[in-house]
Amino acid sequence: MGSREGSSVFAILPARSEGTMENIIAHGRMEFIRSKKPEGCVFCKKSIREECLVLFENEQVFILVNKYPYNSGHLLIAPQRHISGLEELTPEESAAMVECLHISVRILIEVMHPEGFNIGMNVGKVAGAGVADHIHLHIVPRWNGDTSFMTCLADTRVTPEDPVKTYEGLRPHFDDRCGGAKK
Ligand SMILES: [Zn+2]
Repeated sequence: MGSREGSSVFAILPARSEGTMENIIAHGRMEFIRSKKPEGCVFCKKSIREECLVLFENEQVFILVNKYPYNSGHLLIAPQRHISGLEELTPEESAAMVECLHISVRILIEVMHPEGFNIGMNVGKVAGAGVADHIHLHIVPRWNGDTSFMTCLADTRVTPEDPVKTYEGLRPHFDDRCGGAKK
């Protein structure tokens, strides 16, 4: 995520001081912002995709645990094809993404018991997309008091669960629900 947040639903509130900023940004996000960007597309197979965090995939789409989560249980759904626009999705890819969304939400509710979700896409750099060339859908579970306005002001530290731990907790449920259909 760049400095231009656009209309992103994930925009982080401006900090009142440098010390406050450290507290409102999840550690994984800071790591991402500070890290040198690798070559290649992080969502493309045969590129540098984090295969170890893929929960499910078929020929159209895949579900990935976000290595740099905004919150615990942050998942991403993306088409296998390297496309940047929603309008480029085929009807089959669109249907597969929605189906993956339903499955992911159900499993997250069962396993992590969130009280709500932020679900959406940042399309284009101007809208805050970290990876603008390969469209992807964010599913961010929310709990009361996790990163709300009041807790930000109260300097409450946000520490999402380790993505590998999230993967290990969720993967058996995706295997059960999707018939172990990882290809
Ligand atoms: Zn790609």
